[in-house]
Amino acid sequence: MHNPFAGARFLLSVAHPSQLPDGDRPELAFAGRSNAGKSSALNALCSQKNLARVSKTPGRTQLLNFFELPQVRLVDLPGYGFADVPEEVRKTWGPLITGYLRDRENLRGIVLIMDSRRPLTAFDRQMLDWALEYRRTVHILLAKADKLTSSESRKTLAAVQDALGELATAQLFSAPKKTGIPEARTRLQEMIAD
Ligand code: GDP
Repeated sequence: MHNPFAGARFLLSVAHPSQLPDGDRPELAFAGRSNAGKSSALNALCSQKNLARVSKTPGRTQLLNFFELPQVRLVDLPGYGFADVPEEVRKTWGPLITGYLRDRENLRGIVLIMDSRRPLTAFDRQMLDWALEYRRTVHILLAKADKLTSSESRKTLAAVQDALGELATAQLFSAPKKTGIPEARTRLQEMIAD
């Protein structure tokens, strides 16, 4: 099947709003607590092994990393670290990320990656609060679904969907098992087209 996200290439890292590239095409922002599976999801969606590795290189982990395709850019937001303290999230993420989420006119939505074994952390709730505040569309990937039994993963998805209501859409995802990849690509394309 044709993958619209194949061929994504690293464009640049942004440390300051003045460095943002022209808003000449739609963007989707990828967010997630560190270790949730964000890099693996980006690589899987783009059918690449190491695309998102750049976001983990020293000096780039706190930056917005842009990956480009002819029709869209995928923007890897810094993964939030260890503590799940919303206060700290706000301080360390700072104005760059909230400014981007609030002001970027060509931003079509946020893809929020959660570890399906512990979804809806304080970090995730903070992201959802911002998305609501800035009227952003959110799609959630419940990553590492292969670590749950199929009945556990069904229950997790139902519980997350229940908690979210109209706030966001959600699906199960596994990078190694390739679960949910076509579904995610379809949803992302809808967000881009919106
Ligand atoms: P990030 O910090 O959110 O970018 O997370 P990574 O994508 O680097 O993944 C963190 C760890 O979880 C790595 O050891 C990955 O191999 C592993 N991982 C990521 N996604 C999955 C998944 O869907 N299933 C399993 N079993 N492991 C995963």
